[in-house]
Order: sequence, then C-alpha cells, then structure tokens
Amino acid sequence: MALAKVSEILKMADRGNTSIIAFNSSDFNMIHSVFTVAEELNKPALVMLDPRHAALWGWGTPEIYAHMAIEEAKKVKVPVSFHLDHCMDFDFIMRAIKAGFPSVMYDGSMLSYAENVKNTSEVARVAHAMGVDVEAELGHVGFAADKDEDDNDLYTKVEVAARFCEESKCDSLAIAIGTAHGFYKKTPKLDLQRLKDINAATDTPLVLHGGSGVPDDQLVQAFTMGINKFNVGTEYFHLYYQTVKEYVAAGNEAIFDMQMLVQERLQAYLREKMQLCRL
Ligand SMILES: [Zn+2]
Repeated sequence: MALAKVSEILKMADRGNTSIIAFNSSDFNMIHSVFTVAEELNKPALVMLDPRHAALWGWGTPEIYAHMAIEEAKKVKVPVSFHLDHCMDFDFIMRAIKAGFPSVMYDGSMLSYAENVKNTSEVARVAHAMGVDVEAELGHVGFAADKDEDDNDLYTKVEVAARFCEESKCDSLAIAIGTAHGFYKKTPKLDLQRLKDINAATDTPLVLHGGSGVPDDQLVQAFTMGINKFNVGTEYFHLYYQTVKEYVAAGNEAIFDMQMLVQERLQAYLREKMQLCRL
C-alpha cells in the first residue's frame, strides 16, 4: 500500500530539490499507466481529477475515481497519490474529500485577494480537520489559447505570495510565472527570477500548471528553484486521443487491443516525462 499524503510527497521533492509530476488522468488507462511507470522508475507521482471531467462532462465521479486510485495505489510500493485539480465549488470539494481524496485544489485565482484568502482558508480549515491537503492559486494561470502566459498582470506578485500562504493556510501554492493551460502558440518563457524571489519569500511548496510544451531546460531550472509539483494535462490527453485516432484510422476494431496500445503509448511517454523528476 503506497498511497501517500500529497504534502509528504511534495516534501520529498523539496528535499531532493526537484519536482513531482502530477498527470491529469480521467480513466483507468491513464491512472494505471502513471502508477505503473512510477513503480518501474521508483519515482513518486500523482494523478489528478479535473472536476470539469466529472461534473460537467460526466466522465466518472469523485467516488469512482477515488476507489480506482486507491486500489491502483495498493499495487505499488513507491509513494503515489491523487488530487482534485482546479475546483471553485465548495460542495464538490467536500464531496471529493468524503470520497477519500487526500488532496484538493481550491482555485480562487479569479477572485480578489481578500476573497481568495477567505475561501481558501475556509476550505483549508475543513480539509485539514479531515487530514486533507489544500493547494491554492495566486496570480492566475490562464489559457494558452488567449496567450495568457504573456500577460504580466496575471503573474503572481512576489510581495503578496508569502502573506497569502500564511493567511490562507494552504499546503502548496500554484503560481503564475509565464505558463498557461492548453497548447502554446509559441514557446513559453518562464519568469525564473520571479520564481526565485517567490521561493525565497515562502517555505510553501510551489506548483507549476500549464506544463505541456514548456521546454525541458526551463523545467529543470524551475524544479531547482522551488517548483515541487508540476502539472501536465494537455500532452497526456492529446497522446491518448492520437493513439485512438491512429488505431481506428488503420482499420482496427478490437477494443481490447486498443486499450493495450493506449497503455503502451502512455507509458512510453510517462517513462520519458518522469525523468524530469530527479528523485
Ligand atoms: Zn491548472
């Protein structure tokens, strides 16, 4: 049984001066592949449920997800865990906690500072009483389609980051330093000086969202400068889609073989991506 507390896994990353990689995963093939490769490489890893996948599009529920992740975690010895990604809905967060999620994100990044602190600390108060970790977001990691990664106004302000962590009681903090969700139109350039300054101002582990398409050399630098959790979604989902598309286009019809091919391709990708985690 290797289900670990997310805050413990992030501490391991911090001590190792590197980052854990967290993969948005919506089904068995994706969760199973992350934990299988984590075990193979002996590196801790996380899977994350995007609440939109569950709540909006009906791809499973937090209860089914938690059950699947817990059962899959039992099969490996390396510390792995699961997390609820970007959620603004207090009731949905409580539902996930009740279902067994050891970690949740409350995303108040679109709110005012005061509202973000108030709501995050309210989630943290309840979550901590249940032994659950809370990730918050300050500044705003927007969408690559809108070129939000270039909008300095959305970046996390160094001078408020430490105060926010203290006041909100969050366990980790997602920061905006030049990334965005989705596929980038041009290569992003991380504001590493800002990361360095935020990391110097707070002991709270920092999280980088919008990881698909950020060049590895920038990631490696960011991981040694305070990023302890790195989220990847777009690339991982796109690979799944491409594999199914190719399989069908080639005239194949065996659904079981398709599942095996999906797992094979996802795991080959994960084997490479997880090397970025230096643990
Ligand atoms: Zn995100």
